[in-house]
Amino acid sequence: MFLSFEGIDGSGKSTQARLLAERLKAEGCVPVLTREPGGSPGAEEIRALVLQGEPDRWSPETELLLFTAARRDHLERTIRPALAAGSIVICDRFADSTRMYQGRQGLRATVDQLHSLMIGTEPDMTLLIDMDPVAALSRAKARATAEERFEDFGLALQQQMRADFLALAREFPDRIRVIDGNRDPAEVASEIHALVTAQLSE
Ligand code: C5P
Repeated sequence: MFLSFEGIDGSGKSTQARLLAERLKAEGCVPVLTREPGGSPGAEEIRALVLQGEPDRWSPETELLLFTAARRDHLERTIRPALAAGSIVICDRFADSTRMYQGRQGLRATVDQLHSLMIGTEPDMTLLIDMDPVAALSRAKARATAEERFEDFGLALQQQMRADFLALAREFPDRIRVIDGNRDPAEVASEIHALVTAQLSE
């Protein structure tokens, strides 16, 4: 099974992805926890190219190509082999992040074309952690490192991103589950675990 976590920066998706992996492992499953951009040696190199250094180094189009190249490598080297071996792949961000972050620069049609040409795979289920942007923003800022670019969209844009993520959930209603992230992380984790367990037993 292939699962992805999505949400605005600071929404808690990385924490939730880790908690789910730990719980599934304790239950005897074999989860593979991975992330984007990155998740394979080549894709991690591309991540560094895009997220470190000058924010304007790449045009939006070039950045989209780099993210797509990273995803292709991640699929070939990490995701597909793990799925073939029967693992549960838990991915912190996947193609929905590109639909949001690169798509928002007027490139959504190109994002979709590149996705069907070069990726063509969707997760079986996507957990969208929906969170109040005020709380998410302070969390994300507290964590941002000097080495990696943090996209400080500001509050208005974070609000817009949240609305755009919710619109994406309506676009893919069979795949994307919206989780209320404005709660105690353990409570959020329990809801996610229950959803995943139900999906596993289908
Ligand atoms: O999820 P993570 O914190 O590792 O993402 C690092 C940064 O990359 C975030 O600020 C996010 O907004 C950005 N990003 C992006 N396009 C993607 C995925 C992530 O601009 N497709």
